[in-house]
Amino acid sequence: MINQNLKLKQAVELIGKATHLVAFTGAGISAESGIPPFRGEGGIWNQYDPKVLDINFFFNEPEESWQAIRELFYGVFAEALPNPAHRILAEWTNSGLLKSLITQNIDQLHQNAGNEDVICFHGSAQHLLCMSCFTKIKFDASLLKDIPPRCPSCSGLLKPDFIFFGEGIPQQAYRDSIEAAEQSDVFVIIGTSGEVSPANQIPEIAKYKGASIIEINRGPSHYTHRLSTLYLEGEAGKILPEINSMI
Ligand code: NAD
Ligand code: ZN
Repeated sequence: MINQNLKLKQAVELIGKATHLVAFTGAGISAESGIPPFRGEGGIWNQYDPKVLDINFFFNEPEESWQAIRELFYGVFAEALPNPAHRILAEWTNSGLLKSLITQNIDQLHQNAGNEDVICFHGSAQHLLCMSCFTKIKFDASLLKDIPPRCPSCSGLLKPDFIFFGEGIPQQAYRDSIEAAEQSDVFVIIGTSGEVSPANQIPEIAKYKGASIIEINRGPSHYTHRLSTLYLEGEAGKILPEINSMI
């Protein structure tokens, strides 16, 4: 416990001195909002077959794919609310302390907490994209009356505007993430295992450019021993408020 208190103080010091603070979040930050991560106990892949998010399967079997997508990303996700960790990052952005927020999540909880300018590395569930005319449509539940949903303009197949297995990273988000990592002098990793590539390269870039890495995770990750300057073990919804109260 003494050790954890010391680490909290060190984190506060690093954040206080930062000139370019960047945060990088993953599924773990939304766990306390009731959204299960993909892997591990209670993870999404214990209930669903990952093939439903494979891009080839989606085009071959859009109905089966969409049944799962509707339940997961427009059911469970739609009911989730931001937790203290999302809210503190929004406060830090709005006060100018946090210069960039990169998320791998597609759940919109950072935006719902008041963080408008989020780099969505994997896209977002907030829009649907027509696979025929490429119109981007803001999500509305009425679009999912029929499965698979169709484009109101051309009847093309609609797909959530987040990336599926087998798709590339949205180019702008990729570029913005690299730039943010290169500029950061303190880089905070929150709730991500570091197993998903190429997202896991972003903290590597920050480290390579000389940033101090603060990691907040419920358990050790791919980053803990190789990358992290400071590893704070525990729940983001508890640790971020503790840090915030000491800033
Ligand atoms: P992951 O599932 O691989 O790892 C989750 C990490 O969060 C683990 O390291 C775990 O120790 C940690 N964790 C769990 N609960 C925590 C808590 N309360 N506080 C702090 N840490 C906690 O997640 P990932 O690395 O983000 O990779 C999964 C991929 O799946 C991402 O690319 C993401 O796009 C996608 N995904 C997104 C959501 C979402 O949008 N909420 C949910 C599931 C999966
Ligand atoms: Zn269309």
